[in-house]
Amino acid sequence: MNIDTKMILNAQKTILGIADNTPLVPSYFISNLIQEECLLKLENMQAIGSFKIRGAMNAIYNLPSNIKVVTCCSTGNHGRGISYAATKKGIKAVIFMSTLVPKVKIEAIKSLGAEVVLCGRNQVEAELACQKFAKENGYIEISPFDDPYVISGQGTIGLELLAQRSDVKSILIPLSGGGLAAGIAIAIKKENPNIKIFGITMENGAAMHMSLRQGRPIDVTESPSLADALGGGIGKKNRYTFTLCKKFLDTTITVSESEIYNAMQTLYFEDRIIAEGSCVVGVAALLAKKIPNLKGPIATIITGRNVDMSMFTDIINGNDIKLGDTVLKGQCYKSYNLN
Ligand SMILES: *Cc1c(COP(=O)(O)O)cnc(C)c1O
Repeated sequence: MNIDTKMILNAQKTILGIADNTPLVPSYFISNLIQEECLLKLENMQAIGSFKIRGAMNAIYNLPSNIKVVTCCSTGNHGRGISYAATKKGIKAVIFMSTLVPKVKIEAIKSLGAEVVLCGRNQVEAELACQKFAKENGYIEISPFDDPYVISGQGTIGLELLAQRSDVKSILIPLSGGGLAAGIAIAIKKENPNIKIFGITMENGAAMHMSLRQGRPIDVTESPSLADALGGGIGKKNRYTFTLCKKFLDTTITVSESEIYNAMQTLYFEDRIIAEGSCVVGVAALLAKKIPNLKGPIATIITGRNVDMSMFTDIINGNDIKLGDTVLKGQCYKSYNLN
């Protein structure tokens, strides 16, 4: 299936009125700090707290009408999107998640009426269980990223962004399986190939980043991260996103756990935004000056807000955070003196 602008325009019609057109707001603080205009695309304001509603709605509403059950594996936000869309359409959803998924996300999915199966110590193990379950029962599995309707649903962000600010020069996109980055990049590069697109991910399990460097989809060891929604592999049998990211992303970059920690604090104290670790990796890359010669206006996607609030308040208070067997050293936020 060829994923192009036409497919993204169709997705835009399908999700109209459900996945909202989100604001693109300037961050004066970050703009001042880096001396380039920085814009935040606030996908944290979507109904289910993340952009994943776009791809999930588009995938569910394009299913053949005889399909009454779907399944998926998720780090939380895709599952929430699928549950929301399935309930709206009156079909059943069974969501597989690993024990790395925060409790807030699991509870939210249950409350939307989906069946939850918790299994596996990480995303890769949960994914294998989900595949087996789908095969045994003849259910359709909707990938969180490697699905043409999911990719084109996420791509609607690219069309919106261009309509809001056609003068944008660089876009920083949180990157995991690559559905979000691929979708946005298709929409953007077709319109203006000079706009630079960067995929940003965490050091603790950068599957797409490492796969692109190796030239083929590879598995990486995953360890607990503040960016839990960026976990999981890209699949050894990746069909779409590996090729698309290879073709359309200018480069990919990783950020560390303490850079993510600092970015969560910064967005909270300076822009009053509550965001998940996964959503601030673009901001983390800007604050840590990871990309040389970056041209503004720069946009980054604030992909969601579904963070565990007790962990979030710990970060805001500068406390240490336990990540599996390791401890991430906390630090109280000191506002930069810009004068
Ligand atoms: C899924 C997700 C991403 C990454 O999207 P991919 O399409 O897997 O690259 C980024 N941020 C949040 C909050 C997510 O839920």
